[in-house]
Amino acid sequence: MLCPGRRLVAKFGGSSMRRNFDEAVSFTARLWDAGEVAVVVSALKGVTDALLMLAETGDGIGGIGELHRDFALRHGLDPSIFSPLLRELRKSVESRDSFPSLRAFRDHVVSFGELLSARAFAEALSSRGIPVVLFDPWEVIATDGNFGNAGVNFRETLSRSAPVREAVEEGFVAVVPGFIGGHLDLRTTLGRNGSDYTASVLGEAIGADAVLIMGDVDGIYTADPRRVPFARPVPFVSRERARVASLLGMRALHPRATEFEVPLLLGRTDDWAFSTVVGDTDSGTPIIAHTREGGLFRVSVVGADAVHGYEGETFELDGVRVVSFWVERSSLGGFLNSLHWALMGTRKLAFPVVV
Ligand code: ASP
Ligand code: MG
Repeated sequence: MLCPGRRLVAKFGGSSMRRNFDEAVSFTARLWDAGEVAVVVSALKGVTDALLMLAETGDGIGGIGELHRDFALRHGLDPSIFSPLLRELRKSVESRDSFPSLRAFRDHVVSFGELLSARAFAEALSSRGIPVVLFDPWEVIATDGNFGNAGVNFRETLSRSAPVREAVEEGFVAVVPGFIGGHLDLRTTLGRNGSDYTASVLGEAIGADAVLIMGDVDGIYTADPRRVPFARPVPFVSRERARVASLLGMRALHPRATEFEVPLLLGRTDDWAFSTVVGDTDSGTPIIAHTREGGLFRVSVVGADAVHGYEGETFELDGVRVVSFWVERSSLGGFLNSLHWALMGTRKLAFPVVV
């Protein structure tokens, strides 16, 4: 089931790290037993927001420290593992003027979220007797200087990721903090949800067979399952359609995570259920995405020419057909559900993908 002999990258999102940490560690241990694995982690959920606030106001470092110490205690880790990073964070906040720009300073501060969570993950694996190498992400992921939303320089990353490849080949679990890159001697970040992007870049660079994107939902759904109870997972989504859906508001994946050939498998950390593969194949099932635009919500059906009984704006984005509608916030839920009904009916099907 867990692909014996395969090389995989497993990425764990912020809510998995915070709420399903032990399952994430156990899952990684299983992957390591069966083959080669590199892990990309997000910051504990809520920490990136707290760090952005810290960069803005100078306040909140105490709360961030406490949250991590509590987390360590709950998971049987020594809280002092975080002390050096927390000291460094405090020093960085105090030396704001030494950064070339506010954006560079902000990215530097925000980078500590993933550094802290990766430290915890590496420690938890080590305590199970698994050999680990923890990487500095700015040494591996080379980016441009677009702080806050940096783009990866793949060629440079390919050569810099050789030590990660070697580590997994030698039987170590490579742990790489997500979301963070390096430009010259500065830290950059890859945009919100950027750990998906780190994972797919790294997967491509180290020649992984697949990248597992693990979160609190088991895949890409026909609509946001939190708002549409009858939404169901889509088993195969092409890279193009995943990218367009993501640009139009689908939150399951960072849009740039689809730029590489390596297949992405989306699964749930809690029970290791996988429901979507993003790659060459497409099930053809439309995906409803929504995003806020000005005071309204834009609802888009990605991968459809028209919806019977609904008048929308039809266009093509990167070769993918889209129908868009604008709705008020108060009618968003009702609209999403009736649109979903019109497209798909109420069948609640699942197509589990076994890996
Ligand atoms: N921690 C970052 C965020 O909250 C990146 C990520 O979670 O992928 O956006
Ligand atoms: Mg995500």
